Amino acid sequence: MRFQSPRGMVDVLPEDQPYWRHIIKSSEKLARSFGYERLDPVLIEDTGLFLRSIGEGTDIHDKEMYVVGVLGRPAEAMSELALRPEFTAGVMRAYLEHGMASRPSPLRLYSLGHVFRHEAPQLGRYRQISQFNAEAIGSLDPALDLEIMLLAWGFFEVNGVQGLSFQVNSTGCPRCRPGYVAALRAYFEPHTARLHGDDRRRLEVNPLRVLDSKDEATGALLGAAPQMLDYLCDECRAHFTELRGYLDAIGRPYTVNHRLVRGLDYYTKTVFEVWGQAGLGSQNALCGGGRYDGLIELLGGPPTPSVGFAAGIDRLMLTMKALDVAVAPLPAPQVVVAYLGADAKLAAIQALNDLRSAGLRATAAFGDRGLKAQFRFADKAGAAYTLILGSDEVAQGVVTVRDMAKSEQTQVPREKLALYLTERLA
Ligand code: AMP
Repeated sequence: MRFQSPRGMVDVLPEDQPYWRHIIKSSEKLARSFGYERLDPVLIEDTGLFLRSIGEGTDIHDKEMYVVGVLGRPAEAMSELALRPEFTAGVMRAYLEHGMASRPSPLRLYSLGHVFRHEAPQLGRYRQISQFNAEAIGSLDPALDLEIMLLAWGFFEVNGVQGLSFQVNSTGCPRCRPGYVAALRAYFEPHTARLHGDDRRRLEVNPLRVLDSKDEATGALLGAAPQMLDYLCDECRAHFTELRGYLDAIGRPYTVNHRLVRGLDYYTKTVFEVWGQAGLGSQNALCGGGRYDGLIELLGGPPTPSVGFAAGIDRLMLTMKALDVAVAPLPAPQVVVAYLGADAKLAAIQALNDLRSAGLRATAAFGDRGLKAQFRFADKAGAAYTLILGSDEVAQGVVTVRDMAKSEQTQVPREKLALYLTERLA
């Protein structure tokens, strides 16, 4: 029996590593330039943490979470732990667990790694997903909403995606949102018969989610639906106005999108998306984020406002390929050591060891193949030099060094080899 990777989970092969390396290096550099520190929350948490923080009426909560267990333990133990389906809950748990409220505020954190969601797989939609995530914890200042938005924008910009713009909205707070939700429900009341079953359910469980329905009938009704911005309390309105002022001042294109929502109670005020140029996948949204001033309290901490975003690395890689973004190849071996005969093999092993200790990238075909096959191996590896060791070289204490580009050979004493190559490869 041959195993395959689980459905919706893809291996990252060596040829895709240059993209990953580029994305991870450039986004970590970007995050540090914004003053963000890396936090790696654990990969598995109490299922309850995610259930509580992600909330009913979302796909992740209702049907996409992987629970994990230990073979031989009772089935109920299986549901105690879950693979993280996103970063925010774990970051906030870590924030509380490690008393990070005592650190300078706002606390700026970023994370990179895998999250898992049991979604229906297709191109660009996987079950093992890599994300870049950032949070600014401890301040209500709209300047931080802007900062998070700029970080999200920068994440795509430093990876070669252009033609970016923002979509923004405010979803209010627990003071003003209920008034809006009541108005939205009242508006849809006479039309419920025309709504798709999912949307009717949303209207019950999580009414704001009706706003981002993909259903046509709902979409047609939404044109005349009440808008959240007309219902904002003074604090939320002032917050949104200030954020828009900053966006104007910094000159980033944005559109106020009345249908942009998060739809959970602890999400407050700002929601945003970064959009890319048309033609990047089925939707223009590259990533989204927003403010969740109620989340830490929901997890048992003191009221602590925060704002953040998450962006997918797998999709970014597909976008970069579609856009032909150039990324640097990963360093190839510089030197391949070839040998003929048992004594020469021993000398080759020693030479390899010396070169690697000197910090050079060196490798060998091994398997005692003929010289021709070893040259082919060196060619494919892209090595600049091939070393040849035979019985003559061993007897004389030298190595034949072949410059692959020039097809020239010269002999170098064994003890000078590392220095000789280091100087030429510098
Ligand atoms: P979310 O946490 O749902 O807001 O997702 C944040 C980002 O993760 C999205 O903008 C996508 O880039 C990426 N993402 C979410 N779900 C998937 C998936 N199933 N496959 C690949 N990327 C995903």
